[in-house]
Amino acid sequence: MPQRTLSKTVRPSAFRLRAVAIAAVAAGTGAATLLGAGAAAADPAPLGTTSVTTSAVADQAKAQTKAAAAVKKAAAAKAASWVHPVSRYTLSASFGLGGSMWSHKHSGQDFAVPTGTSVLAAHAGTVVKAGPIGAGDGPAYGNAVVIRHANNTYSQYAHLSKINVRVGQSVGTGERIALSGNTGNSSGPHLHFEIRTSPNYGTAVNPVAFLRTVGVTL
Ligand SMILES: [Zn+2]
Repeated sequence: MPQRTLSKTVRPSAFRLRAVAIAAVAAGTGAATLLGAGAAAADPAPLGTTSVTTSAVADQAKAQTKAAAAVKKAAAAKAASWVHPVSRYTLSASFGLGGSMWSHKHSGQDFAVPTGTSVLAAHAGTVVKAGPIGAGDGPAYGNAVVIRHANNTYSQYAHLSKINVRVGQSVGTGERIALSGNTGNSSGPHLHFEIRTSPNYGTAVNPVAFLRTVGVTL
């Protein structure tokens, strides 16, 4: 008996996608129960009601599947891309600048931000340096972090007021790794950001040009 009721209820929506068939069957179980309850009244109205319910449940299941796929896609896209190391900033000293502030040329891009601003991993990777005195790269950097990414690319973050990661830790794209500050040879609160081809000082490339190649415009 429930079999017959089920096919009768589901038939109006039989043209629906096969993907939602399972949801429809599940809803059909509920519909059969509902029909059984309404059978005594012998009123055709419950039939229409159950049909709508079946369709609504199927639509909801379909929407949920779609939403889950969108979330998964967005997460994958985020993991693959690069992001700004600070979300709000004013660009200050640029790469390659000369002057008395630097022993050679300025090796990164400066982002003027108030002390305590969240500093984010520009891309997923593994922390290879974290600590004072530029984490080994010299006192000019103050507290610093270096992250290793794929393809011999490293990002460096300096003059930090607080470091939230340790060496060996995996970090995700956009994950907070530190708070910005004014430590080391710094003329005011800012984040000094480098892209390097090794973990060490002296291998920096133009970070603005690099970020542009991965879709991040400053
Ligand atoms: Zn700098």
